[in-house]
Amino acid sequence: MSNLIRKSVRAMSGYVPGEQPKDADMVKLNTNENPYLPSADVQDILSMIDISELSRYPDPVCMELRKVIAELHGCEVENVFVGNGSDEVLALCIRAFVEREGSVGYFEPSYSLYPILIDIEDVEKKPVALNVGFGWQMPEDYAASLFFLTNPNAPTSLQYSKADVESFVQGFDGVVLVDEAYADFAKENCMDLALANDNVLVARTLSKSYSLAGIRLGYCVGHVELIGALHKIKDSYNVNYLTQEIARVAILDQDTMTANVQAIVETRKLVADKLSELGFEVCDSQTNFLWVKPLGLRPKSLFEELRKKNILVRYFENDGRTKDYLRVTIGTAPEMFQFMDAVEEILNG
Ligand SMILES: *Cc1c(COP(=O)(O)O)cnc(C)c1O
Repeated sequence: MSNLIRKSVRAMSGYVPGEQPKDADMVKLNTNENPYLPSADVQDILSMIDISELSRYPDPVCMELRKVIAELHGCEVENVFVGNGSDEVLALCIRAFVEREGSVGYFEPSYSLYPILIDIEDVEKKPVALNVGFGWQMPEDYAASLFFLTNPNAPTSLQYSKADVESFVQGFDGVVLVDEAYADFAKENCMDLALANDNVLVARTLSKSYSLAGIRLGYCVGHVELIGALHKIKDSYNVNYLTQEIARVAILDQDTMTANVQAIVETRKLVADKLSELGFEVCDSQTNFLWVKPLGLRPKSLFEELRKKNILVRYFENDGRTKDYLRVTIGTAPEMFQFMDAVEEILNG
């Protein structure tokens, strides 16, 4: 039976998403979702949608949505590609920019989906280990066809400076996809670099800052030739009609997104200060989560004790670098008080 399946598929393991418990009492701080409501305009557009539209195929090139994104970033529609989540955008980049004998780079630790997407395409992985402080130094003569550069990085929550990203992309021969899933929570971003360099794409998602993980919408911005290549190979109707409409009105309502981000950034500071006080090592987060190392207590047991108290955080057990840390999504302020109280109780035994 197993020889019916492609060798590379047999050899790879699939992505394991964070748990999505059915239990409504669970405080869910494990998948970097946004705890606040999306734009109220989303509710309005949903009630206005004419169900007869659903019998038609959606706009294959998502023109109205791309216009809104182009306007937001001060570029042309031809500089914008939209996908079924930014995960789809990442997968299409490998298919569009990497030859069979080519390779794809990424930092370790960063987004754990990258190696899986690369294995699916059966091309070479060229990971680069981050240094002790989770900063980067490229090996000499490093080359790859495509590099996924998560900035701010996940799960470390740290941001690499735009100046560092700029000098990297300018000295790199392949395509660099700067994965900016968390940029709205950060002090700076690299969107300019996508418009100024012909080998740079910047990817964003509506899953985090826009509170819309459920609609699956991601996009990237970059040179018309790179964007054109992605359009050539995508599924004809990769973004469904409902998602196009919801995403369009949500992006037009920047006020709701920035207010939610502001609330999360304030709560982030409060939780970071408290955990530092309790003796945790807390990385300087530029995201909607904290990357923390407990002292005097194994991260795994803290994870398990929190779970017993109905609080779910993320623990990456398998990797030597990440097993000393926990990743804690920033929820609402009441959720985070519950979290901090629970941590204190556990520490006090
Ligand atoms: C959440 C996340 C994504 C996934 O975005 P979707 O649009 O939900 O597919 C991509 N990259 C990073 C680094 C993320 O954290």
